[in-house]
Amino acid sequence: MSERHDAEGVAQEGEEAGAASPSRPSSGGLVHGGGVATHEDDQRGHPEPPRPASPAPEGEGDRRLRRQAGVALVLLGAAIAAVAALTTPWRVLAEGAPPVAPDAARDFTAAQIARSAAFDAATSLPAYLSLALTVVFAGLLVATPLGARLLGRLRGPWWLRVILGVVALTAVVEAVRWPLGVWFETVLRDYGLSTQDWASWSADRLKSIGVNAALLAVMLLVLVALTRKVRRWWIPAAAGAFAFTLAASFVYPVVFEPLFNDFTPMRGGALRANLLAMAERDGVPVEDVLIADASRRTTALNAYVSGFGATRRIVVYDTLLKAPQTEVELVVAHELGHAKKNDVLYGTLVGGLGAGFGAILLFLVFGLLRRRTGVASAGDPRAVALLMGLLSLATVASGPAQNLISRHVEARADAHALDLTRDPATFVAMQKRLALTNISDLSPDPVEYVLYASHPSAPERIAMARSWAKLNGVPEP
Ligand SMILES: [Zn+2]
Repeated sequence: MSERHDAEGVAQEGEEAGAASPSRPSSGGLVHGGGVATHEDDQRGHPEPPRPASPAPEGEGDRRLRRQAGVALVLLGAAIAAVAALTTPWRVLAEGAPPVAPDAARDFTAAQIARSAAFDAATSLPAYLSLALTVVFAGLLVATPLGARLLGRLRGPWWLRVILGVVALTAVVEAVRWPLGVWFETVLRDYGLSTQDWASWSADRLKSIGVNAALLAVMLLVLVALTRKVRRWWIPAAAGAFAFTLAASFVYPVVFEPLFNDFTPMRGGALRANLLAMAERDGVPVEDVLIADASRRTTALNAYVSGFGATRRIVVYDTLLKAPQTEVELVVAHELGHAKKNDVLYGTLVGGLGAGFGAILLFLVFGLLRRRTGVASAGDPRAVALLMGLLSLATVASGPAQNLISRHVEARADAHALDLTRDPATFVAMQKRLALTNISDLSPDPVEYVLYASHPSAPERIAMARSWAKLNGVPEP
């Protein structure tokens, strides 16, 4: 949910978990960490007899409610599709730009390509296993009474049971996911990408799980409260999901990022002066460039823009500062492209509309699934299991569309960096450095590309720079 645009899709174990995702810097859950869980339904103790759902016979009133929600869903869905189609930069270079085919072999040696492929093979398995885990657990939660049965053992007022339900299900799934995280981290270490020890890795991960669970608990408390009070709860739920998305993305840089990294203003010097001068030339008001102490976690190179309005900031990993100054300038020029086009704000607005869409869909789907899961209504605290499962599936399902849009937005930021610096040779050198240091996937297969690629691949980005050079009559690197 929190929107952020970085320079490079760094191999991250935990992209965009369920609700808001402050987990990103710390590699929270494996690839799709949509806060989901299931449980081993161990039948010791005193399993509560399954409470039969008490489905009141559906009346004309219910049908009318559902029709209204259905109409709203279709209208909002069409609006989102239209906004996404109209605002996504499907083509970033002017018409007539000579096409250049991406070709990894032109810029990377056979050994470099082999190393990228080996790293990709080593990380794919834990990543796919984690995705499968998420989908299977979420499937169990939405299609069987297992989750409701587990949560039926909780006691206390409804709000406490909602909170405990989130904690219990999160604990179960994260316990199962933990070994996959260890596996992934071990591969990062084997390849020299991680600089963490297990204590700091565990602390990061627990922090990120805690933050995600807290945000999820707040969301579900509000949702369950609404369903207990308002018959047409999809209306305030959709509005609330939209507002929550905006608020989370706005406060993300000042509330969540500092939990994982320290940020210091870049020290005065030629680099800082050049970067600020470039921002001014670009017409983007930037007061400072912040340096994140990413080296305490990783050797990967990155930079990003987060927040919008008063919280917008450009952050550069401290690992990047070892690169030649001209390359750092190119990375920042890319980030200025995001800032200038307000990519974080637009992404957040579309994400907020998507969250609202999800809330309405929830209303409609809930009626179909509650009998299957043995939950009487969305106001039943045991519905938390079903709600978490649905959220998680929605997160996984919306990933490919988000990535598709993101890749085009990233290409636009690349084109902006080239327009601003008119230096495709340094752009290509920078892309090679990023790809080699971060061991990027130089030839992602179509499934990986659709599921995970938030950025074009390095060979695609380099090919675009060559096309830009031809178009602009600058010597082709
Ligand atoms: Zn970017």
